[in-house]
Amino acid sequence: MLVVGDIITMDPAHPRADAMATSGGAIVAVGTPADAAAALPPGTVVHHAPGTVVPGLIDSHLHLQWAGLLLLRLLGEEPVAPDQALATLDAATLTEPWPDGEPTRAQRLAALRVIQPFVHALGITGVVDPALTPVELGAYVECQRRGELKTRVVAMPHPDLESGAEAAIAALEALGVGTGLGDDWLQLGGLKVYFDGVGMSGTALRREPWPGRERQADGHGWQRVSDSDFYAIAAYCARSRWSLGVHVVGGGGIDRVLETFAQINADIPIADLGFTLIHAYLEPSEANLGQTAALGVLVAAQPAIHWTNGVGLVQRLGNGVERANPIASWLDAGVTVGGGSDGPYFPLDPRLGLWQARTRQVAGTEVPHAPELGLDPTAALALYTTGAAAVSLAGSRRGQLQPGFLADWVALGVDPLSTSTEALRTMPVLETAIGGAIVYRSAA
Ligand SMILES: [Zn+2]
Repeated sequence: MLVVGDIITMDPAHPRADAMATSGGAIVAVGTPADAAAALPPGTVVHHAPGTVVPGLIDSHLHLQWAGLLLLRLLGEEPVAPDQALATLDAATLTEPWPDGEPTRAQRLAALRVIQPFVHALGITGVVDPALTPVELGAYVECQRRGELKTRVVAMPHPDLESGAEAAIAALEALGVGTGLGDDWLQLGGLKVYFDGVGMSGTALRREPWPGRERQADGHGWQRVSDSDFYAIAAYCARSRWSLGVHVVGGGGIDRVLETFAQINADIPIADLGFTLIHAYLEPSEANLGQTAALGVLVAAQPAIHWTNGVGLVQRLGNGVERANPIASWLDAGVTVGGGSDGPYFPLDPRLGLWQARTRQVAGTEVPHAPELGLDPTAALALYTTGAAAVSLAGSRRGQLQPGFLADWVALGVDPLSTSTEALRTMPVLETAIGGAIVYRSAA
């Protein structure tokens, strides 16, 4: 296909183009319409893309299957307008258990049929689905086998650490699989390990005790894995070339995780493994920023969490916490940051994330949080393109529109680099293409 339009490539060497040629699901040329046409056989279909074309948006932390199950339960299998699905998800209570225990395989497949068109309508072409059990992973495999997987999924297996790291490692060894298994549609990412709790329940592991809990043994928060088990699993990952994503929210947790990574790195370099701090939004220190960059560790950040929790965190922790989720500081330190949502626990609309990363607005007040940490337009778009592609361990295949990359793009109703920040929040998604095939077109 010859795609002609106003194209933002996110390739620093050629930031803008007027055309790109796609063949076999990948991009084969980018440039002027004549350049691109020259790469294709005569008579190739010409597609005039509306609006402004950007690389397909990637959510580097979206529980896609769980979001699908939630939508399935609330709205059933009939297609609904994206706005209605968004409103339903935003209003949903997530604590209700699934009726009759666990979803069946058929329900999981139905959930994936429901959620994919919805995320395509938001411009999302790929996700990292963080923390999957074997049953959940199996549903993705079956979805792909049936030809129903139309979204790129990087699946992070969640090893069971209840019986200790040694047992989990033995189980992984027995499976004999590893990061990278799969293809451009469904691929194993890193292992997912939970190091601490979350911000709003006071379970994130802080350096200081949570206010009012100074006398409690767990006053600093909740460390969910022992130091020795964490070391064992992280060292196993480094040895066996598994990538590793660590859920860690509080500064005390970030300190411990990075110390462990540094210890392991002294023996086995980890810089090319895509080890990732997931969330890392509560009180990362200057030292954390530098150490993360030096180790080549990535950060998966979620503006939607700051948007949702900002006011509550200030109530609990005081004014300093307005500097939570300092994406600009990570970037300034040289860390690669992927954007995401942590949907369906937080609003999964990437337009909200882009807008929040620019403005640092939080829900419930007009006053932004440390707006000097707001990103410039290109850095914000990079979160959901090049940055999220890196966290997807696909930085050389996705996140940019350049030859050799996959033909995943989104046409937006505004130019996200020059439009007003306000317009970003509701910018129309006009079309979404994955692997050179258009999977969504707006009705308007
Ligand atoms: Zn999550």
